Amino acid sequence: MIVLVINCGSSSVKYQLLDMKSDNVYDLLAKGLVEKIGLPDGCITHKPTGKEPYSQTLPIPDHTVGMKLVLEALVDPNHGVLKTFDDIEAVGHRIVQGADFFSGSVLVDEDVIEKIKICCDLAPLHNPAHLLGIDAIKNVLPEVPQVVTFDTAFHQTMKPYAYMYALPYEYYTKYKVRRYGAHGTSHQYVSQRGAEFAGIDINNSKIITCHLGNGSSITAIENGKVVDTSMGFTPLEGMIMGTRCGNIDASIVPFLMKKEGLTPDQMTDVMNKKSGFLGLSGKTSDLRDLNDLALEGDQRAKIVLKKLTYDTIKNIGSYIAEMNGVDLIVFTAGIGENNPRLRRHICENLSFMGVKIDNEVNENSRNEAMLSTPDSSVKVALIPTNEELMIARDTMHIVSELEN
Ligand code: ADP
Repeated sequence: MIVLVINCGSSSVKYQLLDMKSDNVYDLLAKGLVEKIGLPDGCITHKPTGKEPYSQTLPIPDHTVGMKLVLEALVDPNHGVLKTFDDIEAVGHRIVQGADFFSGSVLVDEDVIEKIKICCDLAPLHNPAHLLGIDAIKNVLPEVPQVVTFDTAFHQTMKPYAYMYALPYEYYTKYKVRRYGAHGTSHQYVSQRGAEFAGIDINNSKIITCHLGNGSSITAIENGKVVDTSMGFTPLEGMIMGTRCGNIDASIVPFLMKKEGLTPDQMTDVMNKKSGFLGLSGKTSDLRDLNDLALEGDQRAKIVLKKLTYDTIKNIGSYIAEMNGVDLIVFTAGIGENNPRLRRHICENLSFMGVKIDNEVNENSRNEAMLSTPDSSVKVALIPTNEELMIARDTMHIVSELEN
């Protein structure tokens, strides 16, 4: 089944076209990015497999025009990979927030759209853009079934004591204030793939997945079900991130708003876009640059690197205690996949309980790898994340059922 996977942002559309033969057998036909929607210098970059990449700068007034450009690129005689639009059998969308409405992927219908709209309040930057993407596909491919996959769905198995904040209960009933988590599609993919790779039965397992990227979250998964995750009501909660502060004493928020005369929106901006690696180092949100700065002796960059390791260890430690053990720890995403030093430091801190990794394998692996030694008490694996594959799989399953 040929599935177009879409990740719509407010001014961008990321896409992948996959030919799904089964859950694990597929061809990536093309991928690309439409950027700067709404601006005069909009841009599409299209990368067809086995052909030259292509890019074009032109005004892209809205998402429907952006989506038309994607489809034209996919069927273009020179850099296309399909004969006609009709070859696209289904479209799968990534949706950031599904609140407690969705615990899995679903086929798009009016009711689903209404619920995604209600969730806009909880993800004002993302959900409205996803709705534009669904609408744009409806305009250009009206007959093609669309499926939505939620970043929050995998975390819906958390128990109330894990997802409730100790705030007055009415804020939960009135405004849905609770912990939802994020990166669920990634945690689900790497836990399933990690268990498979490590030869562990997921239905009888304790797994901790560390998605460490620009945004970072850590999840505890028992028997395939999430028991806890570090992100909360929004992706701001949890550990230090590229530009997000993660956990801070909530009293700091009104304190700084008063001192600096900040509005709620400005304070939100400080915590989401000006904090984390960027805020603490004062220089950059990118871990590669921080590594370079630390080598040059930059003290604040060194604190950031230490804090990243420290926050990761704190989360892993608390999840081991919560689950009363762990069989497998998985590292993934930009930082998790590319920073052997960080992985080594984390695992060294777990040596008290018999975690041992092979330093050479750890140093040289950038792809799927078992980092732990055979005599390690806990398996440690590197599994590159693949959220698009997860979305394409769910889309294939849901649309195939529709056809039967
Ligand atoms: P996003 O959350 O935006 O998807 P990524 O998962 O791509 O982010 O992670 C981005 C982070 O990963 C950046 O801090 C970047 O420095 C780091 N990173 C990416 N590639 C490498 C690499 N080859 N070596 C070290 N760090 C890397």
